[in-house]
This record gives sequence, C-alpha cells and structure tokens, in this order.
Amino acid sequence: MNKISALLSLMLLLLLSPSFNAQTQRTHTAPGLGDYDVPFYPDGTYLKGIQSPGEFLGLEIGSRPVTHEEVIRYLSYLAETFPNAGLYEYGETFEGRKLLYMTVTSEENANDLTAIRERIAKIVDPRLLESENEAKRIIDDTPAVAWMAYSIHGDELSSTDAAIQLAYQLLAGTDETSRRIRDNTIVCIDPLQNPDGRTRWIAQLNAWNSAIPSTDIQSLHHRGVWPSGRGNHYLFDLNRDWFALVHPETRGKVPEMLEWHPQLVVDSHEMGPTATYLFSPPREPFNPFMIRHIHKWWDIVARDQGAALDRYGWSYYTREWNEELYPGYGSSWSIYIGAVGMLYEQAGTDGSQIKRPDGTVMTFRESVHHQFVSSMANIATVASNRKTLLEDFYREKKRAVGGTIGKKSSPKTDAFLFPPGPNKSRLSRFAETLQYQKIELLEAKSEFEVQRAQSSTGVEKRGLKLPKGTLIVPLNQPLRHLIETILTFDIRLQTGFLEKERKEILKHNDTKLYEVTAWSLPLAYNLEAYYAEKLPRLKTERFVLPQRIGSVKGKSPGYGYVFDGADDRSYRALSKLLDRGYKVWCAKKPFEVEDTQFPKGSYLIRLEANPNLKEEYLEEIAADEGVVFHGVNTALAASGADLGGDEFTLLEKPRIAVLGGGGISTASFGAVWHLLDVGLSLRSSTLDASSISRIDLGKYNVLVLPSAWGGPEVYKRMFGDDEISKLKDWLKDGGTLIALGAGTAFLADTSVAISSVRQKRQVLKDISSYESALEAEKEAEAPRVDSLDVWEAREDKPEESKDEKPTIDFEALKLSDEKARKLFPRGSILSAEIDPEHWLAYGCRSTVPALVYSSYAYLAKGATQVAGRFAGPGHLRLSGLLWPEARDRWSQTVYAARESLGKGQVILFATQPNYRGYFHGGERMLLNALLLGPGFGTRRSIEW
Ligand SMILES: [Zn+2]
Repeated sequence: MNKISALLSLMLLLLLSPSFNAQTQRTHTAPGLGDYDVPFYPDGTYLKGIQSPGEFLGLEIGSRPVTHEEVIRYLSYLAETFPNAGLYEYGETFEGRKLLYMTVTSEENANDLTAIRERIAKIVDPRLLESENEAKRIIDDTPAVAWMAYSIHGDELSSTDAAIQLAYQLLAGTDETSRRIRDNTIVCIDPLQNPDGRTRWIAQLNAWNSAIPSTDIQSLHHRGVWPSGRGNHYLFDLNRDWFALVHPETRGKVPEMLEWHPQLVVDSHEMGPTATYLFSPPREPFNPFMIRHIHKWWDIVARDQGAALDRYGWSYYTREWNEELYPGYGSSWSIYIGAVGMLYEQAGTDGSQIKRPDGTVMTFRESVHHQFVSSMANIATVASNRKTLLEDFYREKKRAVGGTIGKKSSPKTDAFLFPPGPNKSRLSRFAETLQYQKIELLEAKSEFEVQRAQSSTGVEKRGLKLPKGTLIVPLNQPLRHLIETILTFDIRLQTGFLEKERKEILKHNDTKLYEVTAWSLPLAYNLEAYYAEKLPRLKTERFVLPQRIGSVKGKSPGYGYVFDGADDRSYRALSKLLDRGYKVWCAKKPFEVEDTQFPKGSYLIRLEANPNLKEEYLEEIAADEGVVFHGVNTALAASGADLGGDEFTLLEKPRIAVLGGGGISTASFGAVWHLLDVGLSLRSSTLDASSISRIDLGKYNVLVLPSAWGGPEVYKRMFGDDEISKLKDWLKDGGTLIALGAGTAFLADTSVAISSVRQKRQVLKDISSYESALEAEKEAEAPRVDSLDVWEAREDKPEESKDEKPTIDFEALKLSDEKARKLFPRGSILSAEIDPEHWLAYGCRSTVPALVYSSYAYLAKGATQVAGRFAGPGHLRLSGLLWPEARDRWSQTVYAARESLGKGQVILFATQPNYRGYFHGGERMLLNALLLGPGFGTRRSIEW
C-alpha cells in the first residue's frame, strides 16, 4: 500500500465512523431547571450519610419529572435506611404498577405504632371508650395524622417530585420543625396516586422534548395529544372516584386511609399554566354535611400556609373558583371522614418552563418548590395544633355516634333502607362500595315496618313494610357525615347561593358551580331505597356480602337451558356464550317452565341449535359468574311464552368498536371501554375517529360514538360528507350505531340527519308536530275504547272544539328556548320513564335516574321508538339543581331512542348512561344496546 492509498483508506475509515460524521445533539436533560436555584429548605441541616432524592437518583429535583420507578426506588431506600419510616403497598394499577404510601414519624412513635392505632380507633369510635377520661388521656399523648396525597391527575406533575423531597426532609431533617413534626404527627405520604396516567404523560413529554426547552404553552411539549395523562389507564378521572370506588387506585387507598383516620388530608394538583397558586378554603356552595369545625381549621391552616409562601414573596389566592359541594374529590371526601381537607392547585409547567403573560418564566423546579413549602407548612400546623385538632375530631365523632360514649349510644337511629330485589348483584355491589369505605351495614333478620319513610324518588311512605334481608345503613356511626353526603337522595342548595348563581348565568354567561350538583349513590345504582327518621326495634345482624354460587340445575336436559336475565351478572354469562359462538335467544315475554318463573329479558339456549354445547362449559361459566342454568325438557311453558316460538329472539355475537381520539370525551370513551373490558371481559376494538375513512367498518356490527367535550362540532370536523355516507352505508347493511351525549347531538343535527331524532332547538318551528306525535304515543301506550262508538257509531259524540289553534310566536319561542338552554341541568339527576316493553329496557326498573349535564334536549316523531323519555315536570327532578325553565324544556324529551335505518339501527342516549362508571341504572340500558342490539334491532339474511 503506497502512502496515498493509505491516506485515502484512513479518510474512508474516518468518514464511515459515526463519531466523525454525525454529531449527536441530545434533547434537554433538565428542561425544568431554568434559572431557578432557590434551595428547597434554606438553612436546612440533615443527618450525615443520607442521600437526598437528587443525590440518590442522580438528578436535580425539579429538573425533570421523576418517574414512578424512581419514586419507588427512592422511597424503598428511605424505608430501608430509617426504622421510623414505613412503606406500605395498597394496590396495583391496571398496567401493573405498585401503589404505595410511606409513613414518617418519630422513632418513639414508630416503636409504639400498634398501640397508637388502637388509641386512635377509640376516639374515632367513642362506642369503644370506657369513659370520657379515657378519651382525654388518648388526646393528651397520641400523635395526629396527616395524609398527604399527590398527583392524582397524571398530567399534574409537580407534587410527586415535592412528595419525595418531603419524605427526605421529614426523615433526614435535623432542624426543629422537622423534629417537632416527627414527634407530634404521623405523616402518611402517597406520592403518586395515578402512576399509569403519569407514565403515559411523561412518555408524551419526552417524545415532544427538544434540545432547547420551549416556554410556549401551545407547544406539544406542553399540550400533548389525546388522551393526555389526566385519567388512569381507562382514562377515568380518579379525583371523581373517591366515593364511587370503581377503580383499583381508589379501592386500595380508601380503606388504607380509614385505618389511619387522618385529621388533615392534602390533595395536591396543578391548574392552568398562566395562573399562580390556589389552596383551601373554598367558597360557597358548601355541602350541608361537612364536619362543623371545618371552616375554623381551613382558616388556621391557610393562615400558616400563606405566611410560608409570603416568605418567598410568591403569589397565591383562596376562595375563588374552588367550591365545596361535590364529595368525590380527595380534599372533599376526606372532610366527611373527619379530616380537614385541603386542596392545592399549582400553575402547571409540564415538567419544563412556561412563559407567563407578564413575560416572566415559571420553571418546573419552582412549581415543585411551591408544593413542597405548602406541604411542610400544613404538616407543621398539624404538629403545633395536635391536641386541639384531635379534640375537635373526637367531638365530631362523638356527635356522629349519638352523643354518648361507651355502648350506651341509642339504638334508635335514622337509617337508609334497601330492600332486596330481583337484581341481587346490584345490591351486593352497592354494599361492597360502602364496605370499602368502612361504613357499618346491617341486615334485617325479619320483616319489619317503619312508620314514616321517604323514598328515593321523594315520595312519603307511611306504614312501610320491608322484607327480611333488607340492607340497613344506620346513621349513628362514626362515618355519619360520609353516609349523609353520599346516600342522601337530594341535597339542596341555599336560596342565597341560587340567586348569585342565576345572576352569574344570565348576566355573565358563566357559573359558580364547578361540578355536578347530584351524585347520590342509591339513585345512581337505581335501587329501591328509603330514608327513615326512626327505625323500629328489630332483629338485625351485621351484613355479610353474599357469595353468589352458580350451578347447572337439571343436567342433560331434553330441550335446552334457561337462565334468568334479572341480575346484572347475566351479561357476563351471555357475552361469554355469544363470544364462543353459541346460539342464545332472549325472551320478550315472561314465562314459567318446569316450576320456575323467568322475567322477560331471560335467556334460552336451544340444544337443537347448539349440538356442540358441552355442559362442562356451562358449569365453568356458572362457577365463574354466579349464574344458574336451568336445564329444561320441554318447550311448553306452564304460563307465558312457549320456548319454541317467536317471543324468543335469536341474538347475534356483538363485534364492538368504540371511537376515540381527537376531541372525544376521554370520560365517555373510557366509561364504555372499561364497561366492555373490565365489566364484561369482552373483546372490543378502539378506533381513531379521525381516520374513519380508512377503517374497514365491515369488521364490526356495533359502533359506539362517545360524547365529545366540544359538542357535535367535534364530530362534524372529523366527519365530512364521505365519512357520513360511509357510516350510513354501514348502517343500511345491518350495523348498530350507538351514540352517547354529544355523539347523539351529532347524529340528530339537521345538517347530518343520520337519525330522525332532532335537537329541540333546531325544530322549534315544527314543535307542534312533535307535540302531536307525543300525544299519539301516549294514546297508543294506554288506549281507551268506547265500545258503543265502535259498534253503534255514537251519535251524541261531543263536538270537536272548533277553536283555532293559537299561532305560535316563533321569535318568543326562540328567545325562551335560548334562556332555558343557558339554564341547562348542571349535573342534575333526572328521572327517565321507561317503555317496559322495549328490549332496551329489559332488567330496568320503571324509571331510570340519568345524570344530565348538557344543553341538548331531543325530540322524536315518526317511526322512532322512544325507549326512555324524561318524566313530566312534576316528577322530572330527582336530585341536584334544575331551574324551572330547564325543567319545562327537558320534560318529556327523549332519553333513549332507537330507529331502523336499512337493515341496521341507530340507538341514541341523550347523556352518558353509565356516567363515571357507577350509574348502573342507565348502564343496564347501554348493556342491552351493546349485547342485545344486533339480535333485536337489525335484519339479517339467512345464510345461503
Ligand atoms: Zn387535578
């Protein structure tokens, strides 16, 4: 090799080597740091040899959000290092991430933890005390408990980083405040309540991270894309789940908190990026069932917190937009268990930096610092006021159990009563939800009568007889406040507030209500329920959740198997059978066969059509789902429909897809996805609505259009003429299209017109024809026959009134409709009356409570079947705020409707039937639409 060729070879080698050619430019490793370098705890002194979270994880806290894995690693290190730290696992998320919290206290307290918990349990339940003196002794020498909860919304990042800094400070801090806190309190730190959401969000932020951090809040690095990180895996808002307990995150946490009985609970959030910092106290409306000393303590805690933030000259505010009515937030739910609930809202920076309107830059590190300082201030307040906090806590608990200590407390109590019905698993599920919250439940061991009771629909009952097995929730128990706020059927707002709210709406086109105004669990579950002011003497036992044992009765039958459709569990059995391809029929009429009665909506498996059905498989389903299959030897019914006739409809295996993406409501989408996946264990597909034109819809026979936050416009943007005609073709070919909330508003929009149901506002000119259609529907439902007129052509017939119908002033109608829309139902529970003959209503009671939080009302005429219609004005409102104008506008409008289109059908729900996953009354109609829909409402050709 000569010199030149050697040189060329060397150059070639260098060219090929990546380090020579491509200079890597890494994305920013510390986008949240910026210029902010104020120490978290100025002049702090710490135990030697203990690593701070930054040292341990090899980063500066606040430079970027820490991950779930880093949080676990660091807290495990602290728990291994400190004997006075405890690390407890309380559950696992849907994606398999561990949920845990850490306890911090002094070594002396830590050594005495079992005894401390026993002492706390006694002031929680004064019925366990021997004397008032015992209570005094306990209050004198028992630490108070603070429960600090962080990042329940996965895209609100800063508080988790503050939480691990807080754990370090409290354990390793040698300063006077940290020591005083350890001596006087047990601090429980739940660093990350929603690991799945945070992980999803951090992945998005990393994906959009640049080498140069962007302070522009419109950038994807701040905005992210659908479905962002707020919800958990199924996109539910966990900060609305505290009393509904639909999710493992809540089901793990709530019983654990109730083991500690905190006197302070902090729930720490983030809000819009251009705001500052908000904390409790909230403003009105106030829930009437809050603990009495809450206002006093909010003021004390906030005063100290304000002083702590003032030391840095930071901006903050209280009592502005945060109201205190709805009990499903962490800071609110905790008030009803006896704690001072505190909410923090820090302006969000998305783990990076943002530029504010005044040109200043807020860094993630500074936002973490705000959360840290606030938490330290609140815990220090608890430590300084330990005794008075415990005294107030005890006093309220004593009042809750009836005012006396020891076993002397009066057995005469007010109570909520739930008689057992045909849907046993619904009542069990309800009882289980209360048991997670450690509410004491009783069961009546004999029939009894209450002198006066009020039903959940507001009807006063006298001499009400209730059967053996009635579930009783007595109110004289430590969690009285919680029971009152989550079970009371109708909580009313004060008139003074109503006046302010009305002004806010009519003058400023705004509202002072942040959340729904109704949430009652008995209404949501659609249980027969009563409240009685006084229970009679009766024999009771502690309620024990029944074990549902399924079986196959009457083996190897001659004709087939029948199973009851009344219980919610029947759907899991049905979906398994359909998924395996078995032929199942659903009864349109009740029937009795071989000494057993079955309601309509029960199921039949004919053996002649299922030659390959193995009884072992039914036994397996029976054992797993708790259903009973009755083998029958005849098609002849003792009464009602014979089993071989047309009163049984052949069902079809559902192949379901749910549309998501774009502006579709994550809550609505998630509620359907969760119902299919967790509720039914049924395979389903999730589709991106914006690419509907490229999707082969032929694979599915059921398509769900969830609600959308921006109303029907969201769908209009995604669905042009081509997409709409594609949907129509799919429908005409036999599809079942189910629309919810804004999905319904889209299909009922005059410009789309996939359904003949209409938005009320768009058909005001034609309103009289809808009114006539309603009259005709009512007549058809309850016809009256004048037999003389039929056979003899009555001659003395009253003459039809010849008065001209008054002409409608369309402009006035438009204006009053506009006003009523402004005053729309603010998350109220309205009563929908059900057509009991319609298959969409199988298994429902005669009315279904529906949560309505929408300005859309719907009208129907023609061939549309209205399976559920909002009740008339006198019975419409069950709970929550419904202005008289809204009452008139929504009464008698459509709740659930079905109509044919070609061989297929459209099913519309005015609102989300299974709102937040706990409105099981409406959920039943949605289940009927999903599982029975393809069999009942579509036409199929018989195979060639
Ligand atoms: Zn939040």
